[in-house]
Amino acid sequence: MTVPTITLNDGNSIPQLGYGVFLVEPDETERIVSDALEAGYRHIDTAAAYQNEEGVGRAIAKSGIPRDELWVTTKLWNDDQGTQSAFDAIDRSLEKLGLEQVDLYLIHWPSPHRGKYVETWQALEQIKAAGKTRSIGVSNFQPHHLQELFDASETIPAINQIELHPKLAQQEARAFAAKHGIAIESWGPLGQGKYPLFEMPEVTSAAEAHGVTPAQVIIRWHIQNDLIVFPKTNSPERARQNFDVFGFELTADEMAAIDALDDGTRVGPDPDTAT
Ligand code: NAD
Repeated sequence: MTVPTITLNDGNSIPQLGYGVFLVEPDETERIVSDALEAGYRHIDTAAAYQNEEGVGRAIAKSGIPRDELWVTTKLWNDDQGTQSAFDAIDRSLEKLGLEQVDLYLIHWPSPHRGKYVETWQALEQIKAAGKTRSIGVSNFQPHHLQELFDASETIPAINQIELHPKLAQQEARAFAAKHGIAIESWGPLGQGKYPLFEMPEVTSAAEAHGVTPAQVIIRWHIQNDLIVFPKTNSPERARQNFDVFGFELTADEMAAIDALDDGTRVGPDPDTAT
């Protein structure tokens, strides 16, 4: 199965579907990521804060998959914002991952009360220039945070990774990103299981019509919206299911019905106040 790619504003191509490892226990990460790679995933989304970069790295090393066939994202944690602290943070992440370079390095949250995200962004530009990451981007940035980066730097982030699922479709952030050539990654794409998304008639009727599961419908909704998506599961069976979303297409009416579920509900922290 060939996963479509999205071409970023720096020319790199990212697989549109990946595997996220938030809340994957460090002890289990190697096995779970090995299973994901076996199922065909070639894009892994981790973060220093997830404390499982070593397991991701071991699974990659054991897989024998050529490095240039994999996309590995990690993220700089809030405490490491700043210049020297960002340089130290990427070195720690690379060491844990056992890699010389990641494909994407993100500022995890703007953490505005620190007043350091612009400085940190300029450090990421240097980290990219040093060859330690192929692409740089941000996560949980609102348009007004991004505008500050545009004013202070030469580089437009390649990606903004934000909470995005049917109840929080983020139309404003997506329109702003499209205008500036920033690709959007959806975190919490299944709503983190925090509301009964898989029981909503808009979702179950599409699942029945296509003979797939509600989770597959939602992943497909992200894909057809040109979003980059990496659902998380500890179950190899669900990992395979979540990867098997290229054999059907939602109709315009099915997409519109799911789009209409948007009511602005966040399941995670507010980026303006999160630490
Ligand atoms: P998610 O929306 O992917 O939901 C995960 C939940 O869905 C789990 O409870 C899992 O058991 C369930 N699930 C997965 N596949 C299923 C299936 N086929 N059928 C039924 N249930 C299924 O939530 P997430 O893990 O928070 O988000 C995905 C990834 O996004 C994370 O792993 C991480 O990489 C990233 N993330 C980033 C941030 C950020 O601040 N940048 C925050 C949260 C998550």
